[in-house]
Amino acid sequence: MLEVLVLITLRCMNLTRISSDTIKPLNSLIGPSPSFLSYDVFEPKLELYLGNNSLRQIPGRMFHLEHLTVLSLRNNQIKEIPQAMGRAINLEQLNIALNGLRWLPYEMLTLLRVPRIITSIHRSPNSFVEPLQSSKQSSKLIENIIKGTNVGLAVRGFPQKVYYLGRSHVRFMDVEGKLMKGPELPTVHDERGEQFSKKDDSRLIMRFIGGVDMAPPDDGPNPPGNRPASYAPSIHEMATKKWLAASRAEQEARTEHDNLKNMLFKAREVYEMEDALRQCTVCQKEFAIARTEWIEWWIIAINDIDSGETTMDPRDAIEDRVPLMRRGCSWRCVPSREQ
Ligand SMILES: [Zn+2]
Repeated sequence: MLEVLVLITLRCMNLTRISSDTIKPLNSLIGPSPSFLSYDVFEPKLELYLGNNSLRQIPGRMFHLEHLTVLSLRNNQIKEIPQAMGRAINLEQLNIALNGLRWLPYEMLTLLRVPRIITSIHRSPNSFVEPLQSSKQSSKLIENIIKGTNVGLAVRGFPQKVYYLGRSHVRFMDVEGKLMKGPELPTVHDERGEQFSKKDDSRLIMRFIGGVDMAPPDDGPNPPGNRPASYAPSIHEMATKKWLAASRAEQEARTEHDNLKNMLFKAREVYEMEDALRQCTVCQKEFAIARTEWIEWWIIAINDIDSGETTMDPRDAIEDRVPLMRRGCSWRCVPSREQ
């Protein structure tokens, strides 16, 4: 197998922004295999090093790079990783340590379904949201996982050591994306490395942690008010999608007297980051404004994948606990009763 390695290093260059247009041509850089070689003997790999810059966000397009195998975003100021992360199925190494991340996209689980591709993720330190729970319950659970006695937590379809732990309350948003019911998300201070305050943190409550039985108690997630939850997109949602599809100039012209400016601009920010509409993690429909969201905590212990045996001590297990953000397109798109 002929390995063709393209290595791009843009470390320590004071970059504050990297656009989709910068990323797009990287795919053709590797290009198709020369005509005398077939793909059987030609294995292109792309390594992208963007560490030690001041990037606040990265374009979703980055994860569309077909041959991306190594990505380092270490020591930037990234607040959120795009949902598109799940598309980087050839990724072997990812370094996202030293950023302002509070969670990772739920879609990262997609990468872990592929056997033995991704071999390392460096993700700490960041400002990851911690579940609020009794420490006794948590350490017991982790202990069981290590001993392998609590097999009920393993989720089918993952060749790696991946376990679902539990989740936060659901946040329900109105058509403009304002929180109607559910916990506030903890805010992160801009200064790197600084943790969000304990006061904020305490509002995110992790309720459903336990053994095999992950079903919530009687009061499962309910939408606010008495209106029945609907899958149908709102007029706002449809109008926002249409607005996002228009050119910048048209967008500006249409929002001149619009009191929905804030909502639209926020939706645009997300749209530009993702380079697409987001996809509902429950029904897979595309949406512009999330109507539900919640955090799930998973144990993702892939760094010891080659050891054959689990050698984790409980401290490492806590390091391996990752908050994943899930978003839904309607009030009906909420966690299922069984995980
Ligand atoms: Zn949905």
